[in-house]
Amino acid sequence: MTVMLTKPVEAELHTGGLDEALTCTQVIEVTHDVKTFVLAPDDLRPLAFRPGQHLTLSLEIDGVPMQRCYTISSAPTRPGPLEITVKRVPGGPVSNWLHDRLVPGGRIWATGPHGEFSHTRHPAGKYLFLSAGSGITPLMSMLRTLMDSGPADVVFVHSARTPDDIIFRDELEAIAARGDVTVTVICEDDSSTEVWQGTRGRLGLRTLIMVPDLHAREVFTCGPPGYMTATRELLSQAAVEPTQCHEESFDLTARAGSTDDDAPDIASSQRYAVEFRRSGFSVECGDQETLLHAAHRAGLKPPSMCTEGMCGTCRSSLLAGQVDMQHAGGIRQRDIDQGEILICCSKPLGDVVVDI
Ligand SMILES: Cc1cc2nc3c(=O)[nH]c(=O)nc-3n(C[C@H](O)[C@H](O)[C@H](O)COP(=O)(O)OP(=O)(O)OC[C@H]3O[C@@H](n4cnc5c(N)ncnc54)[C@H](O)[C@@H]3O)c2cc1C
Repeated sequence: MTVMLTKPVEAELHTGGLDEALTCTQVIEVTHDVKTFVLAPDDLRPLAFRPGQHLTLSLEIDGVPMQRCYTISSAPTRPGPLEITVKRVPGGPVSNWLHDRLVPGGRIWATGPHGEFSHTRHPAGKYLFLSAGSGITPLMSMLRTLMDSGPADVVFVHSARTPDDIIFRDELEAIAARGDVTVTVICEDDSSTEVWQGTRGRLGLRTLIMVPDLHAREVFTCGPPGYMTATRELLSQAAVEPTQCHEESFDLTARAGSTDDDAPDIASSQRYAVEFRRSGFSVECGDQETLLHAAHRAGLKPPSMCTEGMCGTCRSSLLAGQVDMQHAGGIRQRDIDQGEILICCSKPLGDVVVDI
């Protein structure tokens, strides 16, 4: 018998990003209210993404279209299916749908990768990662990536409510045992089954100022809004330069949906004609006003979430004219090249026609 040994063909990367249905191939229970979903594209090509970036999932629940962002918790250095790690939010439609309905074989539409929250955009020799709750997901992707690239000088401080709520607990313990990454987990309370033996309470100034070389580290923070506000204040008290601090909030409700209060003074600005061709509406738009805002004034409600050019939900075709688009990673260059824009962060540079 002749055995032919062949070199495995390296899988081609999805460098252009995704805008397609992914198949759930595995569901992993992470904690009592957190699951990791393993997702694969039909052609099984691994996706090129920066650690910390997210996918925007689109689904319809009870006839209502919904979109939500989920960080890719897996690392780009470990090619294979993508993973997202989702915490069940009480009463939240999408997180509960994913937990209850997405099973192996199930399909879900995803676009991405989106976002600019990534250590790769701020290369440094030393990092401080601060997270709370499900905010651990982007930092875990970054940490895995850094560790795969050699010894990593990272201090990782993660806050959880109780020991039962520590996401990726086993992995964090294994990483701590490696030596190059310092991991501290802070729990507010014991769980019903475990008395927490580690640091208790909340992230405080004492923990921060004990971080070695604190002022030489690029700091990445992700967690719920209260945690983010408190951590911002602590970093300022510890005299960490704001330019070294990078953050991502999972809660878009605080910043989404620009209101009329945010409206720029249209009367005193240069005005252009904006035609929303599909809906048949036209409106004047100031040069400092976003097309999303102008659409709202025209009585239209195009899909949108983050209003910061990050989630990609408001992507539309620019049929004529030019805009100044200051996005935050929510649109791929390939789509821009094809005349797509995010209307939430696009201001007209002249008369424009949009396919809305
Ligand atoms: C860039 C980005 C990345 C994200 N990555 C992840 C991720 O990796 N894992 C993950 O679980 N979620 C992540 N989220 C949050 C996610 O998009 C959804 O908001 C969340 O799953 C809740 O959706 P829902 O439809 O169930 O509830 P919603 O109707 O969206 O929210 C219900 C209520 O819960 C609050 N809420 C939303 N998210 C949370 C949360 N995480 N913890 C506590 N309260 C919350 C909302 O403010 C709202 O009041 C991310 C969000 C963004 C913007």
